[in-house]
Amino acid sequence: MTQIEKAASGLSTEELLEVAKNEGVDAETVRRRVAAGKIIIAGGAAGGNGNGGAKGKRNVVGIGKGLRTKINASIGTSTSISDVKMEVEKAVTAQRYGADTLMDLSVGGDIRGVRKAVMDAISLPIGTVPLYEAFAIAIEKYGAAVNMPSELLFEIMEQQCAEGVGFMAIHCGINRRTVDMLRKQHYRYGGLVSKGGSYMVAWMEKNNKENPLYEHFDRVASILKKYDTILSLGNGFRAGAIHDSTDRVQIQELLINCELAETGREMGCQTMVEGPGHIPINEIEANIILQKKMSGEAPFYMLGPITTDVAPGYDHITAAIGAALSSSYGADFICYVTPSEHLGLPFPEDVREGVIAARVAAHVGDMVKLKKTDADKAMSKARRNMDWKTQIAMAIDSERAAEIKTKRGDPDEHSCTMCGKFCANDILKGVFEKDMEGSDKK
Ligand code: SF4
Repeated sequence: MTQIEKAASGLSTEELLEVAKNEGVDAETVRRRVAAGKIIIAGGAAGGNGNGGAKGKRNVVGIGKGLRTKINASIGTSTSISDVKMEVEKAVTAQRYGADTLMDLSVGGDIRGVRKAVMDAISLPIGTVPLYEAFAIAIEKYGAAVNMPSELLFEIMEQQCAEGVGFMAIHCGINRRTVDMLRKQHYRYGGLVSKGGSYMVAWMEKNNKENPLYEHFDRVASILKKYDTILSLGNGFRAGAIHDSTDRVQIQELLINCELAETGREMGCQTMVEGPGHIPINEIEANIILQKKMSGEAPFYMLGPITTDVAPGYDHITAAIGAALSSSYGADFICYVTPSEHLGLPFPEDVREGVIAARVAAHVGDMVKLKKTDADKAMSKARRNMDWKTQIAMAIDSERAAEIKTKRGDPDEHSCTMCGKFCANDILKGVFEKDMEGSDKK
């Protein structure tokens, strides 16, 4: 039985209890939300959706209503750069700096070998896009992605589930009607930017057939359910340009994905829905309201979102702005973006920047969504008291905080080099001592 089926039958699994404990949420509330498809659980012991990989157990991660916003780091080879060692280093970097999950989106070289090496190196739940491997095999074996036999898609899905992949982005929401809509709206400024989406549309056009993942959705959900692998309903029609955001095609795919989330849930398959993409900040809330209402509050996985098109080199920042707002409006899961987005394959240092930026954004959102402000209060007190040890320990990136503090002067210095003898804290030291008595500020 899957987590959703066990929860619906009144059972609280070991993983469910771990989620409740980690998040400080009552276990019965978590159970009810898992049963209703509002919370999904990735990872766990061998035999569940965390089977295989490091120590036979993957970290347990709860995603959804009332839980801390989680972040995903994506790595993976391309056909231009395929270096297994570097991908492992990127995976280890992502785990070290606090990613909750990792997606291996490899499309070049030995895709299966990279996945195995990554899974052996880290304990985060692993996500994939099985279409990538299927299309890569089709190019090699049949000369072109459009020559792929549709059966290959299902075979790859099953194979990856059996390897212990915890969640899969699958482009079930693309169908021929939506492709017609894309034509009718005169395509897009930014075109299609999803690799899986573009390949699937090209395949449908060439073969004059419906998307098999849409047409045979029951089969997709049944395969994933067998392994309790989470189905992430991919957004092949996400906007890749600010001027394309929230267009008919994007919303049509969202509508289909929300319907499929309900079907998947009814079949006992853990399911989430993916969101944009590129989107201006004034449209983020509407997208989240639509997804939550239409899907029965299925967990929402936002890719970034990127909030302007004009800052290549800084897209970890454009995405962090979108992620903070998304999280505050109710998004549950954020895919990081690195500084190399739109420019090239990320290197390990880009992964670190992306993970930290996404963690900052998720925290900022959770301060609103979950009223989680205790850490900020504790940090403020440590700053006022110039307790550097606590400040550094509490920092989202303690290494970076310690490095800057040390580089700018004596690490044991009482104040810091920002104001030196003009330290505001020192100037008022003792002046308000009595006023703080009896308050929680002391
Ligand atoms: S020197 Fe300035 S920045 Fe540094 S602790 Fe004092 S008030 Fe803060």
